[in-house]
Amino acid sequence: MPDCKPCADNGIIVPAMRVVNGVPKCDACFRNEQAPPPTKEQPEMKPKIDWREAQKRRDAGESVADIAESLGCSDVNVYTHTHKAKGGATPRATRTVTRKKEKSVETGKGDLLTSLRAEREELDRVIAFLEKRA
Ligand SMILES: [Zn+2]
Repeated sequence: MPDCKPCADNGIIVPAMRVVNGVPKCDACFRNEQAPPPTKEQPEMKPKIDWREAQKRRDAGESVADIAESLGCSDVNVYTHTHKAKGGATPRATRTVTRKKEKSVETGKGDLLTSLRAEREELDRVIAFLEKRA
């Protein structure tokens, strides 16, 4: 039996245990051969991104940073594959909200959204009151 060909290519001399398709191989190389090659496996492992879904989320007001994080891609990727929601917040404003949200998560409590909504209701009342007086 000749030496293992893949091992010999790597400069290691190992006696081959079998010949596969005319290539002498040791047990380790034979087992490696049976496993799918890693180069072919990787692109399949990365889920294909549904950009229409991403666009829907952007339209719904979700921030690009949040979408990018959940999709496992970069902000730039989201920007290039989706467009700004009609009448939606600017990316800058969205980003500020995201940062504040993260901070509230960090401190554990203090639901920012809830407090902002309460503030908005308060403002609405003030505006309505002033409008009646005007
Ligand atoms: Zn080998």
